Amino acid sequence: MSLIVQKYGGTSVGSVERIEAVAKKVADFRALGNEVVVVVSAMSGETNRLIGLANNITDSPSPREMDVLVSTGEQVTIALLAMALEKIGCPARSYTGAQVRILTDKSHTKARIEDIDVHRMQDDLAAGRVLVVAGFQGTDADGNITTLGRGGSDTTAVALAAALKADECQIYTDVDGVYTTDPRVVESAQRLDQITFEEMLEMASQGSKVLQIRAVEFAGKYKVPLRVLSSFEDGPGTLITLEEDESMEKPVVSGIAFNRDEAKLTIQGIPDTPGVAYRILGPIGEANIEVDVIVQNVSEDGTTALTFTVHRNDMKRAEEKLHEIARDLQAPTVIADADIVKVSLVGVGMRSHAGVASQMFQTLAEHSINIQMITTSEIKITVVIEEKYLELAVRALHTSFGLDVVDQSE
Ligand code: ADP
Ligand code: ASP
Ligand code: MG
Repeated sequence: MSLIVQKYGGTSVGSVERIEAVAKKVADFRALGNEVVVVVSAMSGETNRLIGLANNITDSPSPREMDVLVSTGEQVTIALLAMALEKIGCPARSYTGAQVRILTDKSHTKARIEDIDVHRMQDDLAAGRVLVVAGFQGTDADGNITTLGRGGSDTTAVALAAALKADECQIYTDVDGVYTTDPRVVESAQRLDQITFEEMLEMASQGSKVLQIRAVEFAGKYKVPLRVLSSFEDGPGTLITLEEDESMEKPVVSGIAFNRDEAKLTIQGIPDTPGVAYRILGPIGEANIEVDVIVQNVSEDGTTALTFTVHRNDMKRAEEKLHEIARDLQAPTVIADADIVKVSLVGVGMRSHAGVASQMFQTLAEHSINIQMITTSEIKITVVIEEKYLELAVRALHTSFGLDVVDQSE
């Protein structure tokens, strides 16, 4: 008998009909002799709707109350799925994060899981029930409701699988696996049979929202076998693996990720003296604004310019801070620009292959796409470009690195 944790995302539980279809899938899986723990998201669009309600009341809602609000979406779907399971004769029980006792730290809206109490779940499983657990939520030590950040149900599923030592954690979504890039942007994207944790972590952290970053981190750390599959059709999906598949001739670039959620800030005309980067980025960090890509350059007149990216939601605050810093440094100009995207090539093959960067830059040049910033790591190259070129850039790079699906009919 296998113990499997299955997670169904928003689209997969987006209507009563969809919830009933998921119930059937879960019940069939249990009938094969498996023990099943199901994690569900809120119905698609619901979390955004709830955030919208809050924003109608205030621009800066209390993070504690935000968590009380947005966690309700998942409470609806667990109850409905448990009812749908019972209706078809499959014993089931729903639990909120706090009821399971998914204990987190106190960072409302981006809490981290610290501990999970498995006893109650084990009792239910022993009694032959399917457990339906609310994704995305937990409780802090004082009993306050917390949430794990957008897309956090993936992390709930992986964390439960780790705590229960499940045989596999299956993430059911609206695509049938992890693709070379978002299949909604590039039609010729290919499903990958497998991808390493390391690559998946880069893909997720560079913007591929098919899995939440923390879920991948967690799965890598606790060695949870993780698979992404479609809830709409049968298929093998994509296995996230610890080891590279040495047997296969793999392309150097495994995938292309992109992120539209960042904005770029530049401060120019700063005196080029030791400590200026610290005097600029220190206060930004203290304001709890996360900085991503950073470029510094010296001009002919001996002054320096610092450009960096932050989440678009933080752009206004970062800009205000930079104006204060600019006054102190007697720097003349601060520029904020939300009209950018980050495009990243990811692949463990880059470790052993030179020339990936130059091929990337050449491809972008051939399409007259200007590169504004560049950053690299061992298995990734990232460029920042103007937002309107996103689709053109991703498609061109996808073709240039041989990732397009081959049309068998030709
Ligand atoms: P769920 O609601 O099931 O959690 P998400 O919307 O969070 O689903 O994630 C699935 C979506 O991720 C897909 O619909 C797809 O558009 C997007 N996506 C982005 N990059 C990729 C990729 N490389 N492979 C597959 N899907 C991707
Ligand atoms: N419902 C939450 C969100 O939309 C969590 C999730 O779906 O994973 O972000
Ligand atoms: Mg998701």
